[in-house]
Amino acid sequence: MFSTQEIERYSRHILLKGVGTKGQKILSDSKVLIIGAGGLGSPSALYLAAAGIGTIGIADGDQVDLSNLQRQILHKTQAVGQLKTVSAKETIAEINPHVKVEIHPLFVSPENIAELIAPYDFVIEGVDNFPAKFLINDACVLAKKPFSHGGILQFSGQLMTYIPGKGPCYRCIFEEMPPENEIPSCSEAGVLGVMGGVIGSLQGLEALKYLLQIGELLTSQMLIFDGLSMSFRKIFYKSVNSECKVCGNEPVITDVAKSIELYRYAGCKI
Ligand SMILES: [Zn+2]
Repeated sequence: MFSTQEIERYSRHILLKGVGTKGQKILSDSKVLIIGAGGLGSPSALYLAAAGIGTIGIADGDQVDLSNLQRQILHKTQAVGQLKTVSAKETIAEINPHVKVEIHPLFVSPENIAELIAPYDFVIEGVDNFPAKFLINDACVLAKKPFSHGGILQFSGQLMTYIPGKGPCYRCIFEEMPPENEIPSCSEAGVLGVMGGVIGSLQGLEALKYLLQIGELLTSQMLIFDGLSMSFRKIFYKSVNSECKVCGNEPVITDVAKSIELYRYAGCKI
């Protein structure tokens, strides 16, 4: 049961048809993992914490850098040099002390990812490199774990949601990682900080909708946002890609270790 304070804290949720006390209880019983406490993970974590998700996992092996602060709003100036997971935990505790934060100060790898995602109901992928994006996809598909993919670069962003058995996965769409250095990263090409706010918040919305079982999720579709023209558009996908290496007709990736053996970038931190 919620305390009087919690009922007041969540009163705007409780008023909502589709949430109510029952929905709020569902949120407080839920566990969401955010991989990457950066530009995308920050707004997701802040809104999910404020929303009263019972347990939030934060996975990131990095430390806060001064150049992160322009967009990674989980971290404050005094956190520079601190582990991002620790900084995130402190910020979340200030926003909502009712949230349990589980920190995973690590970079995802074929060795740790299956165990990492297992306890969670939903995963938010907020990483900034292709090896980690493909690894998270493959691990979630193999574990039948719903997740939200998000990406930002310069003035644009995109997201899609994977639900087991309901449409294509990230690999169905992109198939293989692009050759190294073909697509620049945010550290090479820059990104307007607020792009993370837009896309990361929408990822948080997808998590909430999935948990509450309301609305329509971004399955079988990629939402693309252009911040300069202020336009959203959707690309629709009819079905799973039958050639997909992890969820197609003849999958060759049957465990996550194979995923990364095939696609590891030389020297890339994942
Ligand atoms: Zn697939």
